[in-house]
Amino acid sequence: MKELIKKRRKEIKENLRREFSHIKERLGRDPFLLSFSLEEEPSSEVYRKSIKKKGESLGVEVELMEGDEGQLLSLNQDPSVDGIIVHCRRENFLKHTSFISPEKDVEGVTPANLGRLMRGEEGPRPATALAVMEILKILNFPLEGKLAVIVGRSLIVGKPLIFLLLSENATVSTAHSRTRPLEAITSQADLLVVAAGRPHLIKPSMVKEKTLVVDVGINVVEGKILGDVDPEVGKKALLTPVPGGVGAFTPYMLFSNLSLLLRRKLEGKTSYSSN
Ligand code: NAD
Repeated sequence: MKELIKKRRKEIKENLRREFSHIKERLGRDPFLLSFSLEEEPSSEVYRKSIKKKGESLGVEVELMEGDEGQLLSLNQDPSVDGIIVHCRRENFLKHTSFISPEKDVEGVTPANLGRLMRGEEGPRPATALAVMEILKILNFPLEGKLAVIVGRSLIVGKPLIFLLLSENATVSTAHSRTRPLEAITSQADLLVVAAGRPHLIKPSMVKEKTLVVDVGINVVEGKILGDVDPEVGKKALLTPVPGGVGAFTPYMLFSNLSLLLRRKLEGKTSYSSN
């Protein structure tokens, strides 16, 4: 599976590079992505630097900035800013992302874009959820009529996945921290997506034979990266790797959203309320 993931990632990068080169010609400048940090979050610094490096390899100028909400508001109005990623403490995420223009929302988390997802309309989608769908595509997993169980109901993974999986005709159930007993739900799944942020939460006894298990978790424990699924699960089910699974696609999905937003802008589809 690692080989398939690497191959697809290479294709995605090549496609994005091509798309951004066409977009650059039409814009007359490099596409510009702003990574704006409102509160110091040392844990996000590595991620921000990696986004900058990836962006630059794709032909996108990425600027890392720190500032307050007023500065973010005015940069949001700046026509030379094509996309914005907001970094802040988890408890402030809804507040700080609520006023980003949907046309610049590369994370797909503004009220308008989450509404578009629910309505089945074109728009940027939360990157991690898109990365999970990418894995399903490369594995050719037929979703129609299958029971997909998602463990986790966060705004950036579990909830958007409900709608993405429904749009592919899966039957979808969501489990979360209050689900009891968890294994009663997970053991029925044909597809199990786990995004709980709990290292090795899912054990072999909790999954059916031959289920596809997509491990979204990235947990740093004693300097090692562990998924939300015990690797022993891989002996009875098809398990995506951590690291090198969903996480291999997630950052590129932000750029895929940027490309979509810029194409919409260049086609004059800037108003989300009128089409
Ligand atoms: P979150 O903390 O916002 O949400 C976790 C969800 O899991 C909650 O809805 C909660 O109800 C549920 N949960 C917690 N404990 C549970 C339990 N014992 N049983 C069942 N459900 C439980 O987390 P998040 O931001 O959605 O991230 C989830 C995981 O995915 C984390 O490990 C995070 O690091 C990882 N992540 C990976 C990528 C990637 O690209 N691979 C991207 C984003 C997040």
